[in-house]
Formats: sequence, C-alpha cells, structure tokens
Amino acid sequence: MKIPFNKPFISGKELQYISEAVGLGKLSGDGFFTKSCHQFFREKFGFENCLLTTSCTDALEMAAILLNIQPGDEVIMPAYTFVSTANAFVLRGAKIVFADSRKDHPGMDESIVESLITSKTKAIVVVHYAGVAVDMDIIMQLSKKFGVYVVEDAAQAIDSYYKGKPLGSIGHLAAFSFHETKNIQSGEGGMLVINDDTFVQRAEIIREKGTNRTSFFRGEVNKYGWVDIGSSFLPSEITAAFLYGQLENIETIQAKRKTIWNYYNNIFLHQEKLSLSLPVIPDYATSNGHMYYLICNDHQERQFIIESLKNAGIYAVFHYQSLHKSEYYYEKYEGKELVQSDYFTDRLLRLPLYFELSEAEVEEIAETVIQSMIQYRQMHMIHK
Ligand SMILES: *Cc1c(COP(=O)(O)O)cnc(C)c1O
Repeated sequence: MKIPFNKPFISGKELQYISEAVGLGKLSGDGFFTKSCHQFFREKFGFENCLLTTSCTDALEMAAILLNIQPGDEVIMPAYTFVSTANAFVLRGAKIVFADSRKDHPGMDESIVESLITSKTKAIVVVHYAGVAVDMDIIMQLSKKFGVYVVEDAAQAIDSYYKGKPLGSIGHLAAFSFHETKNIQSGEGGMLVINDDTFVQRAEIIREKGTNRTSFFRGEVNKYGWVDIGSSFLPSEITAAFLYGQLENIETIQAKRKTIWNYYNNIFLHQEKLSLSLPVIPDYATSNGHMYYLICNDHQERQFIIESLKNAGIYAVFHYQSLHKSEYYYEKYEGKELVQSDYFTDRLLRLPLYFELSEAEVEEIAETVIQSMIQYRQMHMIHK
C-alpha cells in the first residue's frame, strides 16, 4: 500500500523518554511520566482531575462503575459510535437506548434526546464524532432537568472546543483515547477526566484494583487494602513516557492535522459539479483535524471509490456499523428505525489523515476520489 489509512509516528522525544523511564527504575504506573502527563492536561485544558488509563475503553468502563450503573438502568447514546461506548455500560447490565444521528452530522441528534428519557435513565453518553462537539448546552440542561449524568466519549476530541470550552470539561465524566489512530498517541492509551468532584476519590480506587493504594502513596493512610470494586486500569510508565513525548508537540501535531484537513476540504469545496456533502462544523464547535470524511451518494458509490483508491495504492475505509444493527445487539434492540444512523453507516467514507501525509499525497487522494466518483456516476447513467 503506497498510502496507508493511518501511520503512527514519533513527534520528538518519545523514545528518549521511554529510556529515561527505564532509567528511573519504576516502570509500573503513576510514576514521573504519568504525573507529567496529568500536569500537562491540567495546565493546557484545565482538567483538574484526570487519570491516565490503558485505553478509552477502560476510561468508559470506569465511568460506568463510578455512576453505579445497575441492571435495568437505561443509558442513552448514539447508535453511530464505536462498540466501547456501549460495551462499558452493557458490562454493568444497562439497557442501551440508542439515539439517531443528526441529519447534517453523524453526532447524535440533540433534539430527540429528551423524548428518550424515562424514569430509568441514568446517563447520557455523548460522542464528539470526528472531534466535533455535540451541542452540550442542550444536553446539560436535560441533565439538570431530569437528574441524569452526562459522560463525554471524547475519544476523538482532544484539543477541540464547544463555545470555547475544551471538550471533556463539560460532562460529569469524560473519556479520551490515545490509540495509534487518534491525534495524540501512545499505541494503546486513554484518560478519564473527572469534572464532578464527588467521583474523584472513588475513581482513584477503581483504577487501582479497588484498593486505596494511591491514597497510601500520598501518605494519607498508613496501609492500603481492598476497599471497593475495581480493576487494573492504569498504564505503565512506558506508555506515559511515549505519551508525554507527543503531548510536548501537541501544537505542531494539531497544526499539521488541521492543515491537512483544510487542504482536503478546499479541494472538495471547489468541486461544485459533484455536489458533495462535506463535513459540517456547527458555529459552536471546532474541528481538531481528527478525521476527514465524505458522504457518498450511496453504498455502491462508496464501494466503488474504495476499490478505485485501493487500485491506486491508497487505503480508505468506511466507519461504524450502527450498533443497533450489530450482530450482538440486534436481538436486544427494540426501538425505532434509526434512519440517519443507517445513512452514515452506508455512505460515510474516511480518507487517510496522519501527521506525515504530504500535500502532494492529499492531492493525489482527492484527485483519485473525484475521478472515480465521476466515473461511477457516468457508468451509473449508462446502465440506467
Ligand atoms: C477510538 C474510540 C474509542 C476506543 O478507544 P480505545 O482507546 O481504543 O479504547 C471509543 N469511542 C470512540 C468514539 C472512539 O473513536
């Protein structure tokens, strides 16, 4: 493959920091580099209480435990999302109530959420798809009105904003991902942000296998033991060292990704004849250059474009299968048709976007997409 879909990269001192972590003689979690990452997030985004985790999936699982989700509780979330958003709550016995996507964006349609709330609703999980904010004022008003918690699945949303506030700082809890496909990477990795102070202490315990070891290391208790349920959610210093190397270069990384995103967008904006559906960024949101996608006319057109790109050595992909139609949840889902979610399942095409992608490569990718779209539409006319 000449141009892969994604390519992990070294932005600066990642490898040096890993070797320093080894030199410090502490490779398990919560050492120097983990603390440096926490400090970074506090200063840069105002995340007063944040905890690195081994993945965003783990951060979501911690959120479900912290909210005390019990069998029978209902949790509202979009159907157009990654499995972990739902799995974390299903593991605790929750019933998932799927919301449809907006017409103009794969994010959940804020205007229908109220109609999904019942006396059993415990939480709303929003997903800032492609790093573009859900309209959080609407969601937080519902949270207040009905006494339900809000969790932000901010896996794709690092350094993106809602009305000037960093995503991940608005809900009661938020989960980030540092998987190698995200803007800031550590291979596997994640973070839980705790904005509701009542969860701070218990979060530390759950993350440390249900023990009060963190408090012990701070000298607050003179022995530690098993005090709650929990699991092993903290990453090693090797992961944190790599992550810190990336965080130091966050400005450069973000500037580069946004440049690539804009470069794609400008090329496609000038294709009036193709009347393309380009990504929509509402006024209250920002783009963090996480993902560039196009909405194809239909499933067949998307398949044709993916094949054409593949023949040119370029790897592009579609994204989620709506979770209500997944093999696992299909039988359990008893709700309405989710027309918009299905729409994005069938039509959304993601193009390569990674730090080392050059302008020439973006041009080549865009040109191949445009040519194959023209070709497909011509063939389609001929066959009619
Ligand atoms: C990537 C992603 C996750 C999972 O992140 P991991 O760190 O791989 O566990 C969850 N939700 C969304 C929306 C994602 O994009």
